Amino acid sequence: MKSHAQVVVIGGGVVGCSVLYHLTRSGWKDVVLVERDELTSGSTWHAAGGMHTINSDPNVSKLQDYTIGLYKEIEEISGQSCGVHITGGVMLAGSQERMDWLRNVHARGRYLGMDTELISAEEAQRRFPLMDRRYFVGALYDPVEGHLDPAGVTHAYAKSARIGGAEIYRHTRVTALSPRADGTWDVITEKGDIHAEHVVNAGGLWAREVGRMVGLELPLLAMEHQYLITEDMPEVMESEKEVLHAVDFEGEIYMRQERNGMLMGTYEKAGVAWSERETPWDFGHELLPEDVDRIAPSLEVGFRHFPAFERAGIKQIINGPFTFAPDGNPLVGPVRGVSNFWVACGVMAGFSQGGGVGLALSNWMINGDPGFDVWAMDVARYGDWTTPAWTNAKVRENYSRRFQITFPNEELKAGRPLRTTPIHDRLKDTNAVFGAAYGLEHALWFAPEGTEPAEEVTFRRSNAFGPVANECRAVREAVGLIEISTFAKYEVTGPNAEGWLSRVLANRIPRQGRMLLSPMLNHAGRLIGDFTVAKASPERFYIFGSGIAEEYHLRWFEAHLPGSGISLRSLAAEWSGVSIAGPNARELLSRITEEDVSRQAFPFLAFREMCAGGVRAKVARITFTGDLGFEIWVRTDFQRTLYDAVVEAGADLGLRHFGARALNSLRLEKSFGTWAREFRPIYGPFEARLDRFVDLEKNDFIGRDGAMKERHEGPKRRLVTLVVDDDGVDVMGDEPVWRNGEVIGWVTSGGYAHHANKSVALAYVPAVNANVTEAGAFEVEILGNRRPATLAPAPLFDPAGARMRG
Ligand SMILES: Cc1cc2nc3c(=O)[nH]c(=O)nc-3n(C[C@H](O)[C@H](O)[C@H](O)COP(=O)(O)OP(=O)(O)OC[C@H]3O[C@@H](n4cnc5c(N)ncnc54)[C@H](O)[C@@H]3O)c2cc1C
Repeated sequence: MKSHAQVVVIGGGVVGCSVLYHLTRSGWKDVVLVERDELTSGSTWHAAGGMHTINSDPNVSKLQDYTIGLYKEIEEISGQSCGVHITGGVMLAGSQERMDWLRNVHARGRYLGMDTELISAEEAQRRFPLMDRRYFVGALYDPVEGHLDPAGVTHAYAKSARIGGAEIYRHTRVTALSPRADGTWDVITEKGDIHAEHVVNAGGLWAREVGRMVGLELPLLAMEHQYLITEDMPEVMESEKEVLHAVDFEGEIYMRQERNGMLMGTYEKAGVAWSERETPWDFGHELLPEDVDRIAPSLEVGFRHFPAFERAGIKQIINGPFTFAPDGNPLVGPVRGVSNFWVACGVMAGFSQGGGVGLALSNWMINGDPGFDVWAMDVARYGDWTTPAWTNAKVRENYSRRFQITFPNEELKAGRPLRTTPIHDRLKDTNAVFGAAYGLEHALWFAPEGTEPAEEVTFRRSNAFGPVANECRAVREAVGLIEISTFAKYEVTGPNAEGWLSRVLANRIPRQGRMLLSPMLNHAGRLIGDFTVAKASPERFYIFGSGIAEEYHLRWFEAHLPGSGISLRSLAAEWSGVSIAGPNARELLSRITEEDVSRQAFPFLAFREMCAGGVRAKVARITFTGDLGFEIWVRTDFQRTLYDAVVEAGADLGLRHFGARALNSLRLEKSFGTWAREFRPIYGPFEARLDRFVDLEKNDFIGRDGAMKERHEGPKRRLVTLVVDDDGVDVMGDEPVWRNGEVIGWVTSGGYAHHANKSVALAYVPAVNANVTEAGAFEVEILGNRRPATLAPAPLFDPAGARMRG
């Protein structure tokens, strides 16, 4: 065994072997994989081997497509068959709502280059004769679905990696990880130690335990999962072609051919967690006891929908555990605060996603960047606020909803409330309908007095539509109050603070008492953040950004901090805030402070410390509504006092609460982009129309070369605002944009802009189309309908910004 290696990958399941292969493929040869037992000894060996490209996140879909395409390559290199059968598959809809969902999947597939097809129930039955079409209304056909041999795939990765120079040590358990001062690791194994520059946790069923070796509690939990294999079925044996894959959402069942019979698996409602606290190290190639009662409800539906199954006997039932993150997507990437420690775990669909995970992680390790948009599976989407109890609740919820529709306006309930602010009860008393962002409860909208604060879940406009319109009206005509504690906020202090900020951010740093907007770019000049920066004093700055990206941004900030002269900390728990916006906002602020907040004394983008509502506050003359407004930040223990003062002072000014839904509506009519929708690492700042917030002349900030190149060559695509000629349905995001019969772009977000009274979609289109303003020049495909759309050359509300600056 080697005593030193550049990388030690822990875990020889499909994911670890894929990571190992991708490292060698990119030229890192001094890499080893350490496996406790034989390769495939975790959840990999008993997988059903199904694979598909469809995922709710388009970027994950791309990686799934990549994974499936990779099998040919590793078969050729290794000579090891992966046993791939591309049969094609049908996803069967038993309701119109599910059909809407499939229409969305199909529409999104268009710009991903996927070749899916919407078909009738009759056509589905022709292609998949085992079904009884009376139970279905239609289906989506995907030609790139099939199944494979899980062990074959894992060994093909492993052999290919060995050919590329990697070494694999089986029957060698890693028992501890010991960090060295220089950020490298001593990997302690049963058979000796390896000094490694990097460690990858691909521990699958034991990823939690490997995480604990470095003091991490990763949000992971294993669930039991059962599938059955039937005896030979005449319908299968008589079929000329291999039987298609099929998913029946109503029955919560997936199916595929297995030799002369069929395999049927189910994600049952009453899922059972496995080894909730600790996975035993001696768990080997074992199956868990079968529990037919648990899957009986699904089988009952299955036998009705697919009568041939009822006639066939059951040959075998497999029950095995595999791990999930709270949202069902993988956990990939470097872990903040633990140097050279990488994770590739929580991969619940290893045979669809394993290749993409290996590629993204190896890129990240070698080039410092995953090379794709991996936000949906970045480990940093969770912060230190997750707990095993919360993870447990969320994973169970996710498992039980695997085949259930999650509507775009749906807020899942498990594990809530987890994080609340001091005014949570006040908002509750005002009939708030809550959502959770990054674990923090916040008001989405306020239901009318006397009605139940609940939102119907739908692809169409919900019961929130009317109340949200009223909230928007209050902001545009009087004054609105919204809690803003969901924003991330950071304090940066010290003699090197300004120099450092100027190096990590793309805009210049504001003068004292002022604020500026600034994008943050990665080394390639792509967008990894958008912030407001306030200079409170020569050596004290505050940064405000997206709340859901806090861990993601802290990881980047901390990795780029100089050794001394600067201190950075998150104010997430320490600060809470409210914002007031609308024509009466200034009058309201003047009623709760002694300070002069007149236009001259407190202009747009001013930042001041003052007493407001009887408490010490930091007040910023800015709001995301695009209106006259202020953000008022206080220490969390003062938030309630501040809130009460604002509510009292605003009573005769038409003050009304507004929530995140109204804020979204208001920012749409200002064409303001937002993180994870319009702003993601696949876009450059000029594409995202952040041109005026990038100062290419100021200094050699991170990403400047890439940004210079983008400006010099001209952005390839541009963010545009489209006004959709809607028929009562608004975009949700990820819809294709058509022009002259071709898909040319995609929607990032949208909805109804209530004040402008228009349905709006923000979208990326090729730069050549970004100035086409003729009416109906574009179409946006919403739930299968192509609706005419017209490009708005300027924001729909206050294009000159007079209100905001007024
Ligand atoms: C019943 C069932 C059906 C499934 N069907 C499908 C399907 O159809 N399609 C699909 O894509 N996925 C399916 N899956 C999920 C699939 O099995 C997983 O996505 C995949 O196996 C995850 O692989 P992994 O490499 O992350 O983890 P694992 O397979 O668990 O591998 C982790 C490895 O790490 C090793 N290890 C852990 N800790 C240490 C240590 N300290 N030292 C050394 N070695 C260590 C373990 O021994 C193990 O071999 C199914 C799972 C189950 C249970």
